Formats: sequence, C-alpha cells, structure tokens
Amino acid sequence: MRKYFLIISCSILLYACGAGKQLVSIEKSAVITSIDLVNVVDDKVQVSMDPGAFSTETVIFRIPKTVPGTYSTDNYGKYVQDFEALDYKGNALSFTKLDENSWSVSNGTQLDKVRYWVNDTYDTENEVDDAVFSPAGTNIEKDSNFMLNLHGFVGYFDGFKEVPYAIQIKKPADLIATTTLSDQIDRKPDPLWDAFFANRYFEVIDNPIMYAKPNTESFEINGITVTLSLFSPNDVYKASDLKSRMLNMMEAQKKFLGEVDSTKEYNILLYLSDVNKPDAHGFGALEHHTSTVVVLPEAMDIGRLEQAMVDVVSHEFFHIVTPLSVHSKEIQYFDFNDPQMSQHLWMYEGTTEYFANLFQIQQELITEDEFYERILTKIGNASFYDDNMSFTVMSENILEQPYEPNYANVYEKGALINMCLDIILREESNGQKGMLWLMKELSKKYGTDVPFEDEVLFDEIVAMTYPEVDTFFKKHVIGNTPIDYDLYFEKVGLATKDVQEPTGYFFDGQVPYMDVDVQNDSVVFIRENIELNSFFNDLRLQGGDIFRVINGKEINLETLRPIIGESFSWTPETVVSMTVERDGEMISVEGPVGKPVKKVKKIVPLENVDQKTLNLRNAWLKD
Ligand SMILES: [Zn+2]
Repeated sequence: MRKYFLIISCSILLYACGAGKQLVSIEKSAVITSIDLVNVVDDKVQVSMDPGAFSTETVIFRIPKTVPGTYSTDNYGKYVQDFEALDYKGNALSFTKLDENSWSVSNGTQLDKVRYWVNDTYDTENEVDDAVFSPAGTNIEKDSNFMLNLHGFVGYFDGFKEVPYAIQIKKPADLIATTTLSDQIDRKPDPLWDAFFANRYFEVIDNPIMYAKPNTESFEINGITVTLSLFSPNDVYKASDLKSRMLNMMEAQKKFLGEVDSTKEYNILLYLSDVNKPDAHGFGALEHHTSTVVVLPEAMDIGRLEQAMVDVVSHEFFHIVTPLSVHSKEIQYFDFNDPQMSQHLWMYEGTTEYFANLFQIQQELITEDEFYERILTKIGNASFYDDNMSFTVMSENILEQPYEPNYANVYEKGALINMCLDIILREESNGQKGMLWLMKELSKKYGTDVPFEDEVLFDEIVAMTYPEVDTFFKKHVIGNTPIDYDLYFEKVGLATKDVQEPTGYFFDGQVPYMDVDVQNDSVVFIRENIELNSFFNDLRLQGGDIFRVINGKEINLETLRPIIGESFSWTPETVVSMTVERDGEMISVEGPVGKPVKKVKKIVPLENVDQKTLNLRNAWLKD
C-alpha cells in the first residue's frame, strides 16, 4: 500500500488546529500495523508496520524505552529480533541499530514498511534481575494467552507519534480480545482478524489487549460499564468468582468520588500466573485511562485474591483522577525514549494510594482500627527508605541512583504526605475541604487534555488553599525534613501509643520467634532484630541465643516441636527451665512462663478531646 507524506503532514496541521479526530484524511494516513498471533514461532510473533511514504532520507523507528506509569527504564526494544526494513518491491533496505530501542533506515524515501519478530517477557522474568514489571510486560502463549501491552509490539517513526494507527490482528478463532481500543469491525482484512484504531501513539500504549478463552464478566456502576477478563492457566478461577466483590468495591469508589468526570468504560485485564512455571512474577497492576492490567499468582486462595484485587484495582481506578486527569506536560507529551520526569510523584502515586485506603474507611468497607493499622504499616514501611530525601528531587530523578531504589516509598510516605495534607485542609476549612475536594478542583481546572506546568503546581494549590499547605510543601515535600506524624494525629484527637497485646510463647500468630540455622547442625535460635515477647524478655533471653536444653531435654528442631505443642496448655504459673548458648557460653534460666504479651504500636483515640476535634476526625474519615 502506498500513501503520501502530504496527507500525513496535513493531518498534523489539522491536529494543531484542534480539528475533529475522525477526519477522513487523517484516517487514510494511519500507520497500518499487523500482528500475527496464529503463526507463533518459538514463542515469538511477527509484527509489520506500514506507514505513509517518507520525504526524508533518514527514518528512525523506535520501540519505547519506558512507558508512562512504570517509572523505570525497561528497553522494550531488546525483545525485538530479526528487524527488517523493506522497500516497495519487498527488497531489504540497509539500516543501522542506534541503540537497544532504535533503528535508522538510510533510504527513507524508499521505505515501505518495517517487519520484526517480538519475544515476550513473562517466561524470562525469573531469569533476569532487571525484569520488566509484569503488568507492563508481554506474554505470548500459543493458542492460549497473549498479553499485548502494545508498547512491547508496536513502535513509532520519529516525528510521527501524533498520527493514527490501524492495528490488525490475526488471531486464533477461539480466543477473544479484551481491550478499550476502539473496534473497527468494518476494517477487518479477513473475518478471522480483529481490527482496532487509535488516534495517536499514546492511545496505542494506553489501551492494552488481552487475548484469552472467554472468561469475562461485565457490570454497570453509575454509568460505567466495567468488564473483568481473567486468564487462569489451570482453570482455577472464573471471572464470576470475583464479580460481586469487584462490583461492591467499585460502587463504593464511585460513591466516594462523587461527580468526577470519568470514563464510560473500564476494563480489568487480570492475568493469573503459574508460579511453578517460568511465568510472570511481578505482581501488581499498571494504570491506563480506561483499563488496568493486573498480574497476581493463581496460587492465592480466594480470600487473599479478592483482597489483593480490592487493594490493587481500587488504586488503579483512582489513577483516573491523577495522573490520568490531573498531570503535567511531562506526562501529556510523554517521550517514550527520552522521558522527562515530573516532580509530582507525591500526587500521582501518593494521592492515589491514599485515596485507595481512605475510600475504604469512608465507605465502611473497613473499620477505623483497620484504617489506622494500614496507616501504621505505611509509617513502618516508610522507615525502610531515605526519610531525608526531598520527594520532588526524588521524583524528577526517579530513573537514577540513589533515587530509584526509593521509588516504592511513593506508596508509603507518598500516601502519608497526602494524609497530613488532608488533615491540614480539614482543619483550616472547619472540616469542609480535604484532598478529594482539592483533586476535584484541579481536575476541573485541568483534565485529560490540559496539562499543568510542573513548576507552578505547588503555587496554584497554595493559592487555592491555605498558607499552612505552603509551609508543609516547602518543609516536607520539596524540603527534606522528616514528618512528625503525631502532630497530625493530634489535630484529629489521635495518638500513637505502645500497647501490650496477647501473643504466643514461641509464635506470634503464624510467625515464629525462632529460626533454624541449617548451616550449623540445624540448631534453633531466637530470631534477631525483632521485638521479643514478654516470655523471652522476662527470662532475659536475647535474639541469637541457641536453644540447647529445655526442661531437661536436649533441643533440636525435632525435640522442640513437642515442647511447642505442650506450650499451648501452659498456665502463667508453669515453670520452665532452659539452657541457651550465647557467644559460645552456656546460660541457664528458670522461671514461670507468665502470660505472653508483645509490645505493639497503635493509633488510639485521645481521651477528653473537645467536640471540634471530634468533628474534624469525623469529617476526615466519614465525609
Ligand atoms: Zn499507581
């Protein structure tokens, strides 16, 4: 097929003038992309991309180095093999490979199309250290499953990201596509093929496709049609198993969000991986405007799978607010091969993660205690990252050292930053305004097609809110001063406190207080660097002590088991004698076992707080 450069340049002009997207001239110039999912060879599929004619001598073709939402460098070009550039007679043109993701064709005016084979990421993820995060990865499993995160399959020609794409897919008859890409039934080259259309390259990347045997459920929530499509390699789960929990959860999210302008259609593409095989092992999800790809282990029991889906999908769905609606120019005009990072990860990921927890307490899916427990877990997890690192500096440099290893703190401290801001807003507005109000205001002002300037966002938010918000940003988000969370808890009549909770003698729930040294005669010792219970503390035992004798019996893993069994019938008065080895020395202790308790941190309501403070707490958690 031969097309003309003139038409392509016209279409760019029309875009710049803000003309409608469905103009015939633009469609005519679409880059025709074909993917063959039937003739799979060695776990690879062939892709061909047929653009219009070029007027330049040099044409550069690229596969993304990184994609929005991943905040990592993944070089999808390394999964492309046997690249060919062909002229209009089908002869090979010479090309040079510029880097892992880019190919330069020198006889550009003669270039008809490029063709290459694509390998997938899922079955090699456990062999490489820098594996692609599975929800952004790809799967090619002949006749069974194809996870088409299209940035792994479809590239772009330099300067032609804003042209339309017609994507034609030859697929096995019994597999169906789940995607929010617009269907082009009338453009099918053959009844066995699927045909899709995207207005620009960003849209190609924003709409993944999963092919699998039909295993889908759809439901309506306040004007949104949600489709859950599930791939379960060993047929363990059906989409119907998860439907009612997802429906409840997303209904609650929609109620929480209120009248936020959102999509009419939302797809959840759930890939369950078989952990006993070389298969996807990066669990979680990646957001898109109208869908999300979720990867979780098939081995999870239904209870844990449901909870993981609630936590993961609610997070991805809230990305509709940010960055999908509220975002900076860096994201709107995303450079897939030389990305500029925005300084606002505190919002893109932090606000999203905060909302994914806040809506659950506001909509009564969890109790107040469970909400506080989650906040404390985040404070605990945040302590593993650099607390003296400016969040904005980290965000702008997230692909570099030493910032990259701190990325996951956006889900911990990032969420806590939002909690503090939420409490400040509630306090200053007498409970009327919070972070959700702020995000709604920002999405009214900006929105999917209007990005903000990265440098002015803080000033704009401060202008819309209070000087206290300015102080907080300067000190704790732009600045690198760690946050004293107790100050914010106090504003809503809460405090963190150490309290004693019952536990077991040798186990805290499922978690043992001891460990086995397999290198050293499998001796059993008390775990180090953990908070011990009162049983060990009262007997003055320490982490690292090796059990040698208990109640006259020599101890190894086998002889310890019956003693653990007996311990369930011990009373506080039961006396135990033990000999442990510490630094080569034998130490004997004896005493009553007592009632074992452990020290835990809790967020608890303060006593005697005034009505105003109580109202503030209610506004924060219940409004
Ligand atoms: Zn996220």
